[in-house]
Amino acid sequence: MIEILEARKGQIFEKGTEGTFDMACDKVSVAGSVSQRACVFCGSRVVLYPIADALHLIHGPVGCAAYTWDIRGSLSSGPELHRLSFSTDLREEEVIYGGEKKLYAALTELIGAYHPKAAFVYATCIIGLIGDDIQAVCRKVSDEQGIDVIPVHSEGFRGTKKDGYKAACEALFRLIGTDEQSIAAPHSINILGDFNLAGETWIIKEYYKQMGVEVVSCMTGDGRVDEIRRAHKAAMNVVQCSGSMTYLAKMMEKDYGIPFERVSYFGIEDTADALYKVARHFNDPAILKNTEELVRKEVSRIYPEVEAYRKYLEGKKAAIYVGGSFKAFSLVKALRHLGIATAIVGSQTGNREDYEYLEEICDEGTIIVDDTNPLELSRFMSERNVDLLIGGVKERPIAYKMGIAFCDHNHERKEALAGFEGMINFCREVHGSIMSPVWQFSPAKCLRAQKEEMEDANSIRQAAHS
Ligand code: SF4
Repeated sequence: MIEILEARKGQIFEKGTEGTFDMACDKVSVAGSVSQRACVFCGSRVVLYPIADALHLIHGPVGCAAYTWDIRGSLSSGPELHRLSFSTDLREEEVIYGGEKKLYAALTELIGAYHPKAAFVYATCIIGLIGDDIQAVCRKVSDEQGIDVIPVHSEGFRGTKKDGYKAACEALFRLIGTDEQSIAAPHSINILGDFNLAGETWIIKEYYKQMGVEVVSCMTGDGRVDEIRRAHKAAMNVVQCSGSMTYLAKMMEKDYGIPFERVSYFGIEDTADALYKVARHFNDPAILKNTEELVRKEVSRIYPEVEAYRKYLEGKKAAIYVGGSFKAFSLVKALRHLGIATAIVGSQTGNREDYEYLEEICDEGTIIVDDTNPLELSRFMSERNVDLLIGGVKERPIAYKMGIAFCDHNHERKEALAGFEGMINFCREVHGSIMSPVWQFSPAKCLRAQKEEMEDANSIRQAAHS
């Protein structure tokens, strides 16, 4: 039996047990717990990565730049400079004598070769240690080349992945408001926190188009520097990945007076709710009517298919472990449509308010975890005998080793899961994985079945003796 570390106990709750629900979240990971969280740099990188016409230069050792090319599912409808992950590849010499010269040379060469609209320079752990003044180098190159060169203070050890989101928001905020010439419609929005994974931004933009709402910019899915520059012209911000982008929405509210709403585009209710929130905000009868028609048409189109999948999946159990808790809320609800109960749910970056809501919507007996680790997760999945794990690239091997079905709901996914048609793709993925015949050959499952058979046989024998 895997023991839970004493220091982790305040971050694990079972709904329905005695005592008040008081999740000890929003803190650094416990030493020795092998957290599933990524570093500060990774938090910044995932947020800024989809800006397709910008140069992304990682100042540090080459290993930090490992996440590149198609490891992330963010698509672009035009330029694809974002798919290249440039690194200054710092070595021993620069660690001793400083890496500023190498950074200057790399920036100058890359801007000359690729002519990006802007450049982001990410500071990694080693930069925090050796103390390179990346701000000064960026300013110098910016003056010489005539483009924005923005330092991102994302030294990996500085905090949690959330601090990386904050650093990315600060970098974006430097671009916002730099285009005063453009104009936007009175009914216009910015989409914040959608990263166009497998083309999801395009699905959502199409909904807003049908509703009669202009999308000024998407930060950062299929992102463009010029769109971000004029984002301050929009009348409203709609925040999808609240963990990463609420900070930016608050800065824009304070400096530009743009109100924001937190939404989710996963699942039937939450997608409909997101669109209605925007429609109600503008309170225009034409937009409200378009929204009603859109939601009615889409729900009646997909519902029979969801019901068909439910017949196969009713009674199954799932574990959810995702980055942001807003996604977890939607997944609990989406699984209910398929008759799947959520036995375990958790997130890397949820805050107190998020966990309180999560507790409210979960069934009695659900285990709720903050910043878990592979050992805890596998123990709970084994105890609850779940049929499915929904997570990301770091959770996938845990599921496969345990012989459990898996659905990728993270930045690496290649299947669009947002919006109404995303719900159908989600059902298809969950059904395909749970019903796969491959699990009968999984050694872990065979061992579990053998153990259960032996336990049954023992209890029959004991009953016969008595
Ligand atoms: S920034 Fe630091 S923690 Fe992050 S990948 Fe680089 S070395 Fe690792």
